[in-house]
Amino acid sequence: MKTCYTLITLCLLPFALLTACDRPGETTMNENQTEQARYAIALHGGAGVISRDLDEEVRRQYVDGLDEALALGVEMLENGAEALDVVEQVIRILEDNPLFNAGRGAVMTNEEKFELDASIMDGRDLSGGAVTGVTTVRHPISLARHVKSGSRHILFAAEGAERFADETGVERVDPSYFYTERRHRQLLRAQGRDEVILDHSGDEESMLPDAGADSDKMGTVGVAVLDRNGNLAAGTSTGGMTNKRFGRVGDSPLLGAGTYANNETCAISSTGTGEEFIRHAVAFQISAIMEYTGAGLNEAADQVINGKLREGDGGIIGVSHTGEIAMVFNSPGMFRAAADASGRYEVSIWDEPIIMRE
Ligand code: ASP
Repeated sequence: MKTCYTLITLCLLPFALLTACDRPGETTMNENQTEQARYAIALHGGAGVISRDLDEEVRRQYVDGLDEALALGVEMLENGAEALDVVEQVIRILEDNPLFNAGRGAVMTNEEKFELDASIMDGRDLSGGAVTGVTTVRHPISLARHVKSGSRHILFAAEGAERFADETGVERVDPSYFYTERRHRQLLRAQGRDEVILDHSGDEESMLPDAGADSDKMGTVGVAVLDRNGNLAAGTSTGGMTNKRFGRVGDSPLLGAGTYANNETCAISSTGTGEEFIRHAVAFQISAIMEYTGAGLNEAADQVINGKLREGDGGIIGVSHTGEIAMVFNSPGMFRAAADASGRYEVSIWDEPIIMRE
């Protein structure tokens, strides 16, 4: 029976390939966007008090970083990539950018260390993976993806996460890889030790100035995607909060708080004061409001961010199953960007977009 199916498949394959290549529709599909050809992506690089006096050059670097990440996401989605792949690849770029508090450029703990968190979730089946307190993994988001696909668990912590990493092919680095001088200065300021003179021959990137006054918890990155097959996925990656105490876990590695995705509702990534996002199960709560009341994504996000959290706590980015994009925050600014199949493309920090194409 099996041989019979194989023979039939082999005989039909050339016809199938010919039909696919001949199809004049490859362009037709782009011209007439069907429901399923729709895609949407939103991403953030952290929320908080971002000074409007931000040095022009620094502002440009943030905008370029967000633009580069968004452009990659759009290119992948245009080429039919899956939501989960887009989330992982876009976050990897942001993790490599020392401006953001994820991967290289992560904030320092109370003990001058780096403890990184990440999570990823698949809206198709509510499967997910997460890691917290990792110290040697260059791209924590990829380790979270391995947890999702290669284990029967959802969250690995600290030493256990490192041991799980040993079983995967993820790239490892010496913890000093994550060091940037500006994060060290932030830590010293938070500890009231600003007078300490750093004996570090940091390169230029390592010495980038701060973006704002409360940058102690700013710069977490997150991505939410609806792909052309109608699937949703979200992911978040962070170094957590400057000066955090040993073993502190924020919302970013917690499905339901920092990250959530459900094909029936939306995909969300949060950023801000992690403890508050955990308390209010922010990402799940937005999805639940949509599911139980029929509210749209922006309406649901507004209820939670502006109705439940305290002013200044942070915000979320998200996309819904219909392609609606939300970027809702209650802090003075949020590094963010979004695009969709209709041609919308924007990068913003404060209220008004800095780059905008319709
Ligand atoms: N939510 C993150 C945390 O509390 C920090 C942030 O988003 O900036 O770990």
